[in-house]
Amino acid sequence: MDLKIIKKDKEKTIFTLNGINPAMANTIRRYIIEQVPTLAIEEIDMSRNDSALYDEMVALRLGLVPLTTDLKSYNKKEECKCKGAGCASCQLVFSFKGKGPGTVYSDAIETKDPKVKPAIPKLPIVKLLKDQEIKAEGIIVLNSGNVHTKFSPGLLTYRGYPSIKAGKNANIKKAVEECKGALVAKGSSAEIKDIVSWNEAYEEICEKNGLEIEYSDEEFIFTAEAWGQLSVKEMLLEAMKIFDEKLGEFNKLIKKLK
Ligand SMILES: [Zn+2]
Repeated sequence: MDLKIIKKDKEKTIFTLNGINPAMANTIRRYIIEQVPTLAIEEIDMSRNDSALYDEMVALRLGLVPLTTDLKSYNKKEECKCKGAGCASCQLVFSFKGKGPGTVYSDAIETKDPKVKPAIPKLPIVKLLKDQEIKAEGIIVLNSGNVHTKFSPGLLTYRGYPSIKAGKNANIKKAVEECKGALVAKGSSAEIKDIVSWNEAYEEICEKNGLEIEYSDEEFIFTAEAWGQLSVKEMLLEAMKIFDEKLGEFNKLIKKLK
């Protein structure tokens, strides 16, 4: 197995991984979307809302705000030692208030835990006119994307690593020219120069010029994008940790078999 980072910035990481198969690539993707938990607003008590939006609309917007998540400090309610009753390890109180005129943004969500705050501070929540006010409080909990998509930490997409195979009548020179730097001639075929900028339009040019594209089923290009609750690295590590725990459970059950 070999992992190479191709591009990395704050929210997005592109990497290649070889020595796996499509089923494994898809498992990593699904564990990120459905299993890795994050914090989100779950219960809201609206004590004042003079805005033009219904309480439910404001509540929906607040629920979708990604909150920075410290996985070491919080448990899912049903897995907590309080057995779902609610305690400091599984829930956190927040307040949200604003006064017009002007827009109230996500950064008006305040908690007592300095590690938990809106990952994107300037998400517009509601507009208020002069003398209008909004005031709400409620509860933030930890849960995962299979319960509600607001808990998903991000996205992971993948595709097989493409390689070029030249047919008998391939016009390599023309394909290289038309791909404008994304493709280079190599021996009697061609090679992709920059996999980050490589896209379907280039593949079409290749095919038109007699070059075939083959997609590996052992090496994949992954694009991981985090919504802000966790970093890309935390998201991947947590997905692997949960997968490992499931395999551990499976292992124990197998050992019980006679
Ligand atoms: Zn608890």
